[in-house]
Order: sequence, then structure tokens, then C-alpha cells
Amino acid sequence: MSRQTNDSELRWFIRRNLAVILFLVAASGGLYFLYQDFIAAEQRPFTVQEGGQSAESVDGLAPQIGEEGYVAVGNVGQQFVQSPGPLKIAIVVGHRASDAGAVCDDGLQEVMINESVAQRVLVELESEGLPVSLLSEFDARLNGFSSDLLVSLHSDSCTPLDPSFTGYKTTVNQSPQSPQLKACIEQNYAQQTGLPIHPTTITDDMIFYHAFNKVSAESPAILLEMGFMYNDRELLTTNSDAVVQGVVNGILCYLQSQS
Ligand SMILES: [Zn+2]
Repeated sequence: MSRQTNDSELRWFIRRNLAVILFLVAASGGLYFLYQDFIAAEQRPFTVQEGGQSAESVDGLAPQIGEEGYVAVGNVGQQFVQSPGPLKIAIVVGHRASDAGAVCDDGLQEVMINESVAQRVLVELESEGLPVSLLSEFDARLNGFSSDLLVSLHSDSCTPLDPSFTGYKTTVNQSPQSPQLKACIEQNYAQQTGLPIHPTTITDDMIFYHAFNKVSAESPAILLEMGFMYNDRELLTTNSDAVVQGVVNGILCYLQSQS
């Protein structure tokens, strides 16, 4: 075939299919513009989209260019919807990893009593489906610690004192929820153990308890002196079921009051 024949055949083909060719060109152009618009939408900061959800509802900070603010349109809602986490319950084992605390003549140490009670409170709460973190006395995690509640367990002196030195007492931090936590712990602890409250032996160390200054101001925290190791020894050791149940019921009472 000659070149001339080819050219005339091509012109004939174009004339014959002009409508189809024009349609294909127009459609390609349209798709190209749609694609460009889609890319632009993906790169658009979501804070300026009409009807879009603003990131400020979460942390009050506007996103910066190049940071999290540039997200795919469809992900805006998902990224900032947060479900409430599980309850965070913390128990400080008084004196753990620090010192023995009060010590009796026969060698019984306060830290042993606190540890035993704390471990059994943990078991009881976990059996209710409530996970518990046990912390040491000067646990590094206490700094800025945020929890639904924190209970620090201690026991008082084993010095031989007259029988009037029997009973428990508490101090709390400044959280708005602390009065409720205090009421629940005191009421249930007294009910289970039969111990009286012993307010005259509340010391500055209890009022200005170091952990109160470390945990987050919103987290309620209570220090419970469970009893005197000399006069309440039997209750704190061989009969400690009542002690454990008093603490557990106090915690459950508080959680129920907040739900
Ligand atoms: Zn102590």
C-alpha cells in the first residue's frame, strides 16, 4: 500500500468516527478535572470544611499545616471519636519498695500487712471485672497520675499503747470527688470491721501525704490508716477478711455513686 492511500484512509476514518473521538476527548478531560478536585479535597485542612467536625472539640488546639490537620475527608469523624476507657483504680501499698513502716517487737512489719490486704483487695475487685494497679509508696507513676480513684493503705503504730488507741482514720486530697470517696470508704470500713474512727491521731504526714501532691488534681485520692498494729493486730492479720471487705465495699460504693 502507498502512503497516499494510508493518508486518505486515515482522514476517512476520522470523518466517519468524529463523534466518538470528540466524546472520548471530552470524557478524558472531564475525568482529569474531577481527579484534580478530589486530590485537592484530600489535601484540604478539615477545620475549614463546611459542616466538617473541628478538631478543637478535643484538645482546643487548631491543627498545624503539615501535622494531623491534613487528613482524608472521610476520616475526620473517626479520628476524634474516643470511647471512654476502662476504669482506672490504683492502690498504693504503704511503704512498699521504701521501708518497713511500723514494726512490732516480734518483727511483724506494717508493709507486710499493707501488702497482704492490697493483694486481696485486688483479687476481689478483679473478680468483679475491675482491673487494679498496685503501686509502691514512692512509685514514679504517681507523678501526674490520673485515675478514677486511688487508695493508699497503711497501718498505724505497733507501740504498746492503752486500749483507747484502736480504730481507723482517713485523709483525702483536694479533688472535688474526694468527699464522696471518703464517705464511702469510712462508712463501709466501719461497718465491716466494727472499728471506731480515731481522729485525734491524724498526723501532718497524713494531711500532707506526699502522693496527694503528685497525682492529678482531678483524681480523688484517699489515705486509709486501717488500724493500730498493737491493739487492732488480730483484725489486721488473722481476721483481715473484714478489713479487705471494708475497703472493697467502700470502693464499689464510690464507683456506684459516680455511675
Ligand atoms: Zn504507714
